[in-house]
Amino acid sequence: MGAKIIDGKAIAAGIRGEIARTVSKLTLEGTRPGLGVVLVGQNPASISYVNSKENDCDEVGIYSHDIRLPANTSESELLHIIDNLNHNPRIHGILVQLPLPKDMNEARIIAAILPEKDVDGFHPANLGRLLLNLDCFIPCTPYGIVKILEIENIPIEGAEIVLVGRSRIVGAPLANLLFRKGYGGNATLTVCHSYTRNIEKVLSRGDIIIVATGNPGLIKGNMIRNGTVVIDVGINRVEDSSRRKGYKLVGDVDFDSVKQVAKAITPVPGGVGPVTRAMLLWNTAVAAQRFHTDRKEV
Ligand code: NAD
Repeated sequence: MGAKIIDGKAIAAGIRGEIARTVSKLTLEGTRPGLGVVLVGQNPASISYVNSKENDCDEVGIYSHDIRLPANTSESELLHIIDNLNHNPRIHGILVQLPLPKDMNEARIIAAILPEKDVDGFHPANLGRLLLNLDCFIPCTPYGIVKILEIENIPIEGAEIVLVGRSRIVGAPLANLLFRKGYGGNATLTVCHSYTRNIEKVLSRGDIIIVATGNPGLIKGNMIRNGTVVIDVGINRVEDSSRRKGYKLVGDVDFDSVKQVAKAITPVPGGVGPVTRAMLLWNTAVAAQRFHTDRKEV
């Protein structure tokens, strides 16, 4: 029997429905949630992400303020724009699309965002709070993965999870989320990375395998055991001359062989990606809700 294909688009639509209700209630009470999105340069993948974020905001009723800047924008200009967004009462969440041009200091830019508007969850204060198991904005992809498992009734608590990848954006915050004593946590976690020896042996431990490496087709069906749940985070463009765009999107998992052995699997596209996008809206609604409550209490 083949794996259940987890429908990330349907999960995301359900989450957006919930967000739309919160947004409508907040708006009626006088606080329309607002998201400021800053894009520097012309990276095609980033342009496409930012366009979809704008559409997502429209769908749930979030006000979106898009700022698109040329690649030669200086760091001080960008810091100035972030400062304006920090002080703008209509904006409750700020997203600076990564990667930034190479000559910019990404860490300095992210640190300039007010932690209470850092809906991407990459500010050191939010990442530190995640590590300390305190209230924080959980980065959208890790949050989306936990939501998928929750909605699919796949328990994290007590599960053996093998996570492949330890990046700042996905692997590292996800690892902290999965092993902490709290929401999304209590797993027995093994983290693999580019220095891991004999990855197959490690993978065989997993009830759940989560892969975020940026290597198309890295994980094959013969590397996992029967009945594993596989979450494929990778989004990779590979050449495909049969398509109009000249490429197709694939994950880090060899979908055709893995789906023969796995219990459930997220496809690419249509798996983790849409849920990640929905969690950005979720965090923005939460930021606006906090702003609204604080304003009422003043
Ligand atoms: P990254 O390059 O920053 O990190 C890759 C990680 O994978 C590193 O920790 C590295 O040690 C590990 N790795 C690389 N090759 C490996 C190998 N052969 N064996 C074991 N570990 C290996 O990448 P990232 O930003 O984490 O992104 C990873 C993938 O996820 C990319 O395809 C990216 O496009 C995708 N992504 C998807 C979403 C989403 O919403 N679905 C969000 C962010 C990133």
